[in-house]
Amino acid sequence: MSLRARLILSYFVVLAVTLMVIVLALLVFLLARPANPAPTYDRLATIARDFVAQNQAAFGNRLSLAALRDLPERLGAFAAENEVRAMVIDLRTETVVSDSMGVYQRGDALELLPEETYTLPLYLRRGLAVGSEPIIGSFQTPDNAVWLFTGLALTRGEQETIAAILSDLAPPRTPASVIAEFRESLLRPLCQAALVGLVMALLLAVVISRNVANSLAALSEAAGKVAEGNYQWRVSEAGPPEVRAVAGAFNAMSGQVHAAQQAQQDFVANVSHDLKTPLTSIQGYSQAIMDGAANDPADAARIIHEEAARLNRMVVELTDLARLEAGQLSMQMLPLDIAALVAAIGERMNIVAQRKNVTLHIEAAPVPAVMGDGDRLAQVLTNLAGNALNYTPAGGNIWLKTRAAESGIEIVVEDTGAGIPADDLPRIFERFYQVDKARGPKRGTGLGLAITREIVLAHGGRISASSAGKGRGSTFTLWLPRQN
Ligand code: ADP
Repeated sequence: MSLRARLILSYFVVLAVTLMVIVLALLVFLLARPANPAPTYDRLATIARDFVAQNQAAFGNRLSLAALRDLPERLGAFAAENEVRAMVIDLRTETVVSDSMGVYQRGDALELLPEETYTLPLYLRRGLAVGSEPIIGSFQTPDNAVWLFTGLALTRGEQETIAAILSDLAPPRTPASVIAEFRESLLRPLCQAALVGLVMALLLAVVISRNVANSLAALSEAAGKVAEGNYQWRVSEAGPPEVRAVAGAFNAMSGQVHAAQQAQQDFVANVSHDLKTPLTSIQGYSQAIMDGAANDPADAARIIHEEAARLNRMVVELTDLARLEAGQLSMQMLPLDIAALVAAIGERMNIVAQRKNVTLHIEAAPVPAVMGDGDRLAQVLTNLAGNALNYTPAGGNIWLKTRAAESGIEIVVEDTGAGIPADDLPRIFERFYQVDKARGPKRGTGLGLAITREIVLAHGGRISASSAGKGRGSTFTLWLPRQN
């Protein structure tokens, strides 16, 4: 099913459910509400008119004692005949004079609640031409029953205080009456609302699906381009946040794929170049020995030996690096005394330093234990100290220091040697990167710092290098997290 169809369907379902809930709520509301009292008021008004017509003469200007005496009987007969409750009320005192049901006795208080929002229809009001306004409303009996009434003045005197009120119980709601009322007054507006909702849903579905579909189409096009090798292709990061996030993630991913691809190409180029140089020299010198053209065959053989050793070292380092990068090199993590480790490596390096006339200062202050692989960290320290020795000329100084740092420890390898130009600093941890390939008495492989960094990362640590510039020494700072 297409995105648009799904959206339309889901909107339609939401709309249908919403309308259903509204209809149910309305039905419940209508059922709970008292029924429309208007027909009862109107019916009672016509009965009241008859009552007044029949009885007004007997009452005259005020309620006589004689009239009062046979009032209960009259009321009773009239009420039975018309199937209503008939009452005579003194409006001034709000007390009952007589009640056909006999619930209220003479003098009982009765609170009438006039209905202010309803007036009798004109044809009824005309028929009630007795010179007084009818009163309509409801009252509640002590047993909580609600009675509707229509009342008319009974006495014709100045003080119009006596009224006949005809009452009936408020009609109950029946499901049938509710449905009828619903059909008459609510069905139409609801259907119109549903129609408007449906049109809006269709429009929204078209707009949203076009938006989403467009971004998806852009993404799929971009994925195709990247698959074809066009790594520079980017999708525009516009639209709603979710779409922007996907576009951003896609761009970041293709950026990384590009970087990985580039690194792969660089790696192959570097490996072939770095293998080729010693191989060419081996080939050249061996050819010279075979042709008898070498001035000093022993020297040629030594060069061949050195180049072969370098090749061997490079293969070992490359294998190490590949394993480290793939996370395949298992580490024996144990609590380590870094100060002791630094002191031991320093001692070993001191022999070489003395031979080179370089002063090695070991300032291995005790530091908290860290978790680490002793052999691998020794390899890191040997690498850093070895580089310092390699790139520091006679008369220079090298420091190996340990110190406690925030939530871990630091090892610092500092020298007063060749230094590293600012431009090269960010790249020296890359594989094969060498500041000056021809520099140094013993040519390196450019892999040492890459391996060092991988080992440090595998320990959850970090390493950074700084240098004041060419010829002004370098500092390598290694941070390792403290043992928890
Ligand atoms: P290499 O085998 O060439 O020493 P590394 O990966 O160990 O390879 O070092 C990369 C490059 O970083 C070196 O070629 C060198 O240019 C530079 N470098 C590393 N350590 C130092 C240092 N202590 N002083 C100056 N340059 C350094």
